[in-house]
Amino acid sequence: MEFSAAVERLYRLNTGVIGTGAARHERPHKPVLLLAVLDAVAAGQARPDRVPWSTWLRQRFAAYFEVVRSHDDTCAPELPFYYLRSDELWEPLIANPDGSSPLPAPPKARDADTGRVFARLVKGWDTLFADPVSRIALRDALIARYFPHARKALTPLFLEPALDLGTEETTVAEDDVAPEMPGRSAGFRRRIVELYDHQCAACGLRIRLPEPEVTFVDAAHLVPFSESRNDHPTNGLALCKNHHWALDQHLIAPDPSRVWRVSRRIDSRRSLGEKELAGLDGQKLLAPAESAFNPDPRGLEWRFERLLDQAV
Ligand SMILES: [Zn+2]
Repeated sequence: MEFSAAVERLYRLNTGVIGTGAARHERPHKPVLLLAVLDAVAAGQARPDRVPWSTWLRQRFAAYFEVVRSHDDTCAPELPFYYLRSDELWEPLIANPDGSSPLPAPPKARDADTGRVFARLVKGWDTLFADPVSRIALRDALIARYFPHARKALTPLFLEPALDLGTEETTVAEDDVAPEMPGRSAGFRRRIVELYDHQCAACGLRIRLPEPEVTFVDAAHLVPFSESRNDHPTNGLALCKNHHWALDQHLIAPDPSRVWRVSRRIDSRRSLGEKELAGLDGQKLLAPAESAFNPDPRGLEWRFERLLDQAV
């Protein structure tokens, strides 16, 4: 499997969403298990074709889980160990006299270290996990997508060194100059476009042609990736080309109450285009299909603060 395809898949794990109201959130279990498995392979505690269900793995899982857990998340490594099979990158197995067969249910704590329960990475994931460079890059993709706000707290736990991201100042902070990891943009875009059902979060325009699929909307970052290294869906908006451009130019911005604001630099008497853009002022920001991925208020604030010539 191509590395870019792997990153795209990692961005769209079937994680599940739980909780209600403000506690509604994406479950962290699967990405946390993958972080622990990357470490297990690096430490020689597992091979890509045989990842034992072990105390070592459970403890690595718990160490990461403690950092990223929220609300009433419970530390349960057995769940992703079993259910990751639905993401088609991993097969949980149980040893028997004839070799092995599919694990029928999540393993128990007492099955750890017996050597009977294990999983193997499949469909090219084994090759990627065997290579130290791609392991580090996959880990970085998992953090950018699932745990961007915990990056600092997670870094000391890594068994392999973090990517050297450089320290030079970036003066322009727009999406198209962000450091690129193959598959990253595509993964982010697909997740956002799906969540907004191919609809622009400003004007509501939707154009979607099937086979091969063509969609009219882009995925825009609230806080640009180059600055935030944050590909969590709460840092994204689906926008049509026009509104994406206007957002990047800081001519429009959603405010923290999720209402669009238009810069006073736009003069609706000057042209039809500007008149149309000005009409967005005061309109509600369209919400994504899943409330767990509503735009992060910190990102909305970042955009609103940078709106050009705003009324005071
Ligand atoms: Zn639009």
